[in-house]
Amino acid sequence: MTRVRCLVFNAALGPLDYRLPDGMAVEAGSVVAVPLGPRTIVGIVWDEGRLPGDPVPEAKLRPIREVLPVPPIAAPLRRLIEWCADYYCASLASVARMALSSGGALKGPATAIEYRLSGGLPERMTAQRQAAIEALEGEQASIRELAGLAGVSEGVLRGLVNQGVLEPVEVDSDRPYPLSVPNFAVPDLSAEQAEVAETFGTSVRDGGFAPYLLDGVTGSGKTETYFEPIAEALRMGRQALVLLPEIALTEAFLTRFSERFGAAPVLWHSSLKSTERRRAWRAVASGSAQVVVGARSALFLPFRKLGLIVVDEAHEVSFKQDDGVRYNARDVAVMRAHFERVPVILASATPALESLAMAENGTYTRLQLPSRFGGAQLPAIDTIDLTREKPPRGHWLAERLVAGIEERLERGEQALLFLNRRGYAPLTLCRNCGFRFQCPNCSAWLVEHRFTGQLACHHCGHETPVPERCPECGEADCLVACGPGVERIADEVAERLPEARVFVATSDTLNSPGRAAEFVSLVEQGAVDVIVGTQLVTKGFHFPELTLVGVVDADLGLEGGDLRAAERTYQQVAQVAGRAGRGTKPGEVLIQTRHPDAPVIAALAAGDRDAFYEAETEARRMAGAPPFGRWAAIIISSEEEGEAREAAQKIGRAKPDLPDLAIYGPAPAPLSLLRGRYRYRLLINAKRSAQLQDIIRGWLGPLDHPAGVRVGVDIDPYSF
Ligand code: ADP
Ligand code: ZN
Repeated sequence: MTRVRCLVFNAALGPLDYRLPDGMAVEAGSVVAVPLGPRTIVGIVWDEGRLPGDPVPEAKLRPIREVLPVPPIAAPLRRLIEWCADYYCASLASVARMALSSGGALKGPATAIEYRLSGGLPERMTAQRQAAIEALEGEQASIRELAGLAGVSEGVLRGLVNQGVLEPVEVDSDRPYPLSVPNFAVPDLSAEQAEVAETFGTSVRDGGFAPYLLDGVTGSGKTETYFEPIAEALRMGRQALVLLPEIALTEAFLTRFSERFGAAPVLWHSSLKSTERRRAWRAVASGSAQVVVGARSALFLPFRKLGLIVVDEAHEVSFKQDDGVRYNARDVAVMRAHFERVPVILASATPALESLAMAENGTYTRLQLPSRFGGAQLPAIDTIDLTREKPPRGHWLAERLVAGIEERLERGEQALLFLNRRGYAPLTLCRNCGFRFQCPNCSAWLVEHRFTGQLACHHCGHETPVPERCPECGEADCLVACGPGVERIADEVAERLPEARVFVATSDTLNSPGRAAEFVSLVEQGAVDVIVGTQLVTKGFHFPELTLVGVVDADLGLEGGDLRAAERTYQQVAQVAGRAGRGTKPGEVLIQTRHPDAPVIAALAAGDRDAFYEAETEARRMAGAPPFGRWAAIIISSEEEGEAREAAQKIGRAKPDLPDLAIYGPAPAPLSLLRGRYRYRLLINAKRSAQLQDIIRGWLGPLDHPAGVRVGVDIDPYSF
């Protein structure tokens, strides 16, 4: 064969044909450098006959330039890329690019250059140079990454390189990781844990696709049970992948992992340095990375001999990617396991209804851990009806909750207050003229952060200092904060219980593994009495002295009429409740609500998970929502509001009229302006029998739009 079809990472182009020069050998999956116009780009040689497109005439074929020195992308990953493109209605090129272009790992030599301070000083010190030198103490990274860390331009740093203040360091991308030992510090499992672990272990030994739902209450030791099949995979010389929802959590997890396996796993997430990324990618491809712990994008790593996939907290919203290729890592994990022919474990104390349905119909094997490890009891749960037990004016915590915290203080125990809102207040307005601070790029209010003195947009990251005067009427001292965020709750605790040591735990304060580790150790040492946190603290942490959990506003997530609102509220509150009483002391949970009789709140208070799932299942059945029917969204956006609207209307006019499909819209999306783009949306509700993806492709495929318009498809959207 001298003609080769390649997938190139350019979403605007289909697959391209190239000529195989004499003496060059490729196979399906080979990573190659190919010419495109005047440039050279990366492509993947694809299996013959699997990619559509008209062949380029023989005479016009250009030769492949070279085969890059990385192992070929194996067939299971190629099949996964095809599946994602098909299922999520995305172009193959955009999936391949998302999957394979991470960190430029495919290109370049086995060494990379990083820079660090040499200890020398510049000939001329400027304020910027001074600031950069202070900020970069102890850091080593690429110029671009250092510029980000120091908050200066790359030009400033290049100046420092020229003067020898920053020195280059050669980094070997193939230096080995420490080895995990499968038989290191094996724990004694309880009888019920041992049974589950044995089932997993056998499954890894036998090989073959086997999806499991590990349904175990919080504190039951789900982690210990899936560590055993990981050990089994290692014994067999195979690799394992563990997906975790939050990077901030990994620190506690890593400690446990190291205690069990004698070495840390290989990490994969978006804030890795480019050299770390390259090293991890290459080690995964060569097979020398044994266990990878990562965020959702780790699903596309080029494992050489995968033996097991685990998705912990599999119900988590953060496994859903909401821009670019909109995929759900939980589902992609199952498909990767399918193509690799290995077991996959979805672990959760509050599985998604879809996962439970898959267990009911026998697609997944459900394994249960119904009790906490070591005889710890599940906490007692009670509601506080805020319409009766009103907090004092201008405050948010009812007397009973404050009394509960005070009791913990007296006993030297700890309390956790949960409110899923970062910052001080969700809205700031002018008392004089009514002006509200809005994000210039998004249809969203700016959120005041007192720690940083900034007003910030939680959607695009826009920030501006809190002004002294109202920008509209010019009045001073007229800005009022409306509603509470975690910072304001922390202030309230400090005001009402001045002796309490309070820690605000959010993605603002736990924004690096180091900070997260510091937080964990402060709590473990007993240097924190009250944690006030967002969803970040609802999972993963294990603090034995934490005996009270207060849910500040359980109604927050129920607003907005979202189809998954009840399920998400249930999951969040049950997860955060699961932080209470994990040691020997019993835990208590107080849920503040204005709707104590709402089915989800009542089920939480009664500790009756089955009642909640039954009610929710019935509601979904009535609404034709998953798992009974399916939803998809089409999101149309442009920087020009008129252009977005016209494109949406054009799509609306072309909508298919089919019996097993209902299409709503177009209408402005809930965030009608996001990062400077105006957004419109259509919603599709389909019967299970409908060929949803084919219908969407047939509908959108023939329509042209101006270059500035983006049309995205969201299959199985999480929230809308
Ligand atoms: P889950 O993930 O189900 O909430 P974890 O795996 O975090 O539960 O376990 C809860 C706590 O119990 C952890 O501190 C863990 O170390 C401990 N634990 C669980 N099983 C065992 C065991 N077999 N031996 C010793 N400690 C255990
Ligand atoms: Zn914004």
